[in-house]
Amino acid sequence: MNQTGFYKQLNGILSEDQILCKEPMSRHTTFRVGGPADYFIMPRPQQTAEVLALCKREQIPCRIVGNGSNLLVSDAGIRGVVIAFTKQAAQIRVNQDRILAEAGALLSQAAAAACRAELGGMEFAAGIPGSIGGAVVMNAGAYGGELKNILTHAVVMTEEGEQLTLKNEELELSYRHSCIPERHLTVLEAEFQLQKKPQEEIHALMEELKGRRLEKQPLEYPSAGSTFKRPVGNYAGKLIMEAGLAGVSVGGAQVSKKHCGFIINKGNATAADVYGLIQLVRKKVREHSGIELETEVKYVGEFS
Ligand SMILES: Cc1cc2nc3c(=O)[nH]c(=O)nc-3n(C[C@H](O)[C@H](O)[C@H](O)COP(=O)(O)OP(=O)(O)OC[C@H]3O[C@@H](n4cnc5c(N)ncnc54)[C@H](O)[C@@H]3O)c2cc1C
Repeated sequence: MNQTGFYKQLNGILSEDQILCKEPMSRHTTFRVGGPADYFIMPRPQQTAEVLALCKREQIPCRIVGNGSNLLVSDAGIRGVVIAFTKQAAQIRVNQDRILAEAGALLSQAAAAACRAELGGMEFAAGIPGSIGGAVVMNAGAYGGELKNILTHAVVMTEEGEQLTLKNEELELSYRHSCIPERHLTVLEAEFQLQKKPQEEIHALMEELKGRRLEKQPLEYPSAGSTFKRPVGNYAGKLIMEAGLAGVSVGGAQVSKKHCGFIINKGNATAADVYGLIQLVRKKVREHSGIELETEVKYVGEFS
């Protein structure tokens, strides 16, 4: 099928303002790099099954993204369809001591809603710039908390468009991991179980954690947070610093001097620069300490 025909079919499901063509992914990633997605679409949850079925029928590759805060998208961009859950799928509901949030809601918005409802337990998540969908996929965590500890279940969709409710244990959550990518599932919403707590205490803890982030992390530059996973019994940032790599650059990408675990975009980095620097860091750390760093950041598109 030609491109116009596919656009027309997409437009049969979604309105024009839900479909962006040749959309630069640099606008949708916190690294601020990445080439164009053929079709960047923003469905409502109830439109997702039809979009997945269309892509399957027409054999158009389809990729889900959240807030793009853990992605490195190649300079050539993404062929096919990128499904992004944004404000069209960002409802948050409070039900007694539970929060139910759609995939496109931001973790920070869910944590703020929890605070307003005097529900504690989500404070750790307030400063993580991901969506609910991306956070469930990554089992996002910080300061001793992780989603695994508060998630009751997630509503997901299979590639065939079947909606399933998976309980916490069925999601196989572990350090920055869930079974969602391997099972090619799409997260539609997630529920969290919290506890009653005075609002001032929740707010104070959120402010304290925000202060710790501002002090330690190079938040003034685009990045995807920690580039590498924490190796068992060690810290990626420490290993990178010990290998003498603080401030090392490839093009516009640099190992942050403030926090060596972050690769930052100094303003004009390409995805190839970031990728090249990741390879350099891994090689130097391997040579220096014998430890193989694994990326936490997910690659999307072609890299060589
Ligand atoms: C400054 C900064 C600080 C950070 N600090 C932390 C931190 O403290 N702790 C932490 O854990 N992370 C941190 N991160 C990384 C990032 O915010 C988390 O990994 C977050 O959970 C990613 O969510 P996202 O919506 O941006 O997902 P994306 O980056 O868009 O996607 C991540 C993965 O999830 C998949 N995905 C996204 N949404 C869905 C969906 N609805 N259904 C199926 N698959 C989906 C994507 O395909 C991709 O594989 C930080 C990032 C930045 C930039």
